Amino acid sequence: MILMQGKGVSRGVTTGKLYFFKRVDTTVEQRSVDDVEAEKERVRQAQEKSIAQLEVLAEKCRREAGDEAAVLFETHAMFVEDEDYVECINTTLEDEGCNAEFAVQTAGEQFAAMFAAMDDAYMQARAADITDVTRRILNNLMGVAEGGIDSDEPVILAADDLAPSETVQLDKSKILGFATQGGSGNSHTAILARTMGIPAVCGLGDALKNEYEGRVAYMDGETGQVFLDPDELTAAGLKTKYEKQQEMKMLLQEMKGKEDVTLDGKHVNVYCNIGSPEDLNAVLQNDGQGIGLFRSEFLYLASNDYPTEDQQFEAYKAVAAGMNGKRVIIRTLDIGADKQVDYFDLKKEENPAMGLRAIRICLNRPEVFRTQLRALYRASAFGKVAIMFPMITSVWEVKECKRACAAVMKELTEEGIPFNPDTEIGVMIETPASVFVAEDLAKEVDFFSVGTNDLTQYTLACDRQCNDLGKFFDPHHPAVLRALKMAADAAHKNGIWIGICGELGADISLLPTFLAMGMDELSVTPSAVLPLRAEIRKSIAQTCDLKLLEC
Ligand code: PEP
Ligand code: MG
Repeated sequence: MILMQGKGVSRGVTTGKLYFFKRVDTTVEQRSVDDVEAEKERVRQAQEKSIAQLEVLAEKCRREAGDEAAVLFETHAMFVEDEDYVECINTTLEDEGCNAEFAVQTAGEQFAAMFAAMDDAYMQARAADITDVTRRILNNLMGVAEGGIDSDEPVILAADDLAPSETVQLDKSKILGFATQGGSGNSHTAILARTMGIPAVCGLGDALKNEYEGRVAYMDGETGQVFLDPDELTAAGLKTKYEKQQEMKMLLQEMKGKEDVTLDGKHVNVYCNIGSPEDLNAVLQNDGQGIGLFRSEFLYLASNDYPTEDQQFEAYKAVAAGMNGKRVIIRTLDIGADKQVDYFDLKKEENPAMGLRAIRICLNRPEVFRTQLRALYRASAFGKVAIMFPMITSVWEVKECKRACAAVMKELTEEGIPFNPDTEIGVMIETPASVFVAEDLAKEVDFFSVGTNDLTQYTLACDRQCNDLGKFFDPHHPAVLRALKMAADAAHKNGIWIGICGELGADISLLPTFLAMGMDELSVTPSAVLPLRAEIRKSIAQTCDLKLLEC
């Protein structure tokens, strides 16, 4: 038996073959070739493969979301064979005597630029489709597996570490678990694993060896243990644990449809954190009463180019409409730090967590911000959308955000596009500065939501990405809890509500503390909703105290 010990960051017991994530260098360079006809044949085969993939995607979409959604992939399939596009590829191949990859990339760039330069907004938006189709053909030329996993059966995905942009592009249906050498429990990849309800262990270090590829592993996302060839006793223990988990899940089903209220009548909104419209199913299955945090940046991370206003609108609308009148808080773009998006061309920074990230990027790039705000306000006509700004440190930032919102509402009014003018506006409390000026911020907005992941990082000066900080990264630290209390007092004094959307919100051991502070909302990963509800319903808010705030 081989035991690898890491850190459990997403609960659950699972077993399956280990598959090592393969990073393929997808940069395209021009090469001279002797046999142009052979390159043409490579392009033809990559086109055929792309069309077959798009047909499968269109069919899946038709089954799950109807004809309208399937049209996108059908259009992409048609474009793969578009006469002018193919002619452009062949001309480059012949004129330059170059490799297929370079010819396809050149054609893609030329066509995307041509569409982007058109007057009609609809045609402009097609530039992103062309880039997408071109990327698909290139991936097939370079042997990059779709969804990142070249396996017919689901696997435990092993890697040195995974960036959030890599994780969002994976085919989730093929992943039984994540096992990584590096990483930390507060990284966005761990957060994504929890949102998807997939067991994950990080920090396995050198114990996780490439030579284990293909071997059957057993992993426990709670204890952080990964086994190869477990002995009988260990295997039996894991099986029992798995069965108990399933039993517990069944028992928790009883909580569905029940109110999130303590024995003495204190109501707490239990909402969910999501990263994409696909997570909506998990929210509905777990009876989440709203969305407390839609991390909109994952739309940007999953894309090869800036998502257009229409693409964003469709995603926000799907969630707003799918929640059927329940509150859906969408956070504006929060990239930077560990969430890097190539096409933003952000400068490399010494301290990215304290650099140009989140709202700072939006305020510096008004066009990017405006596109997102337009999509958000348009979606507000289809449900109870609320807009939330991340990484706020100053009142002037909020005022500037509100001015951008007002400008967008004016535009939409003039264009006759429906939206909800009373859309709630909130800010995230995730910097010590925002805690200190919380009284002033509260006068500007409708709600606060505390991002405890960043608040812990900035309050304790502890990098949330670093797995070696151990006990120094302590979200239970009295300084963090006192910051939460200060923000809650400031909110309530000014008549607005406050919630927690950081990972700490799901920490059952802190529920009495949150109740004593008067937290109005807790937004957690979908699978944490029912356990939290069960605990709230056993609690008596009046007897809860703030003992943990003492040193
Ligand atoms: C947080 O910082 O707690 C938060 C919810 O935002 P993110 O984890 O996406 O930075
Ligand atoms: Mg944050």
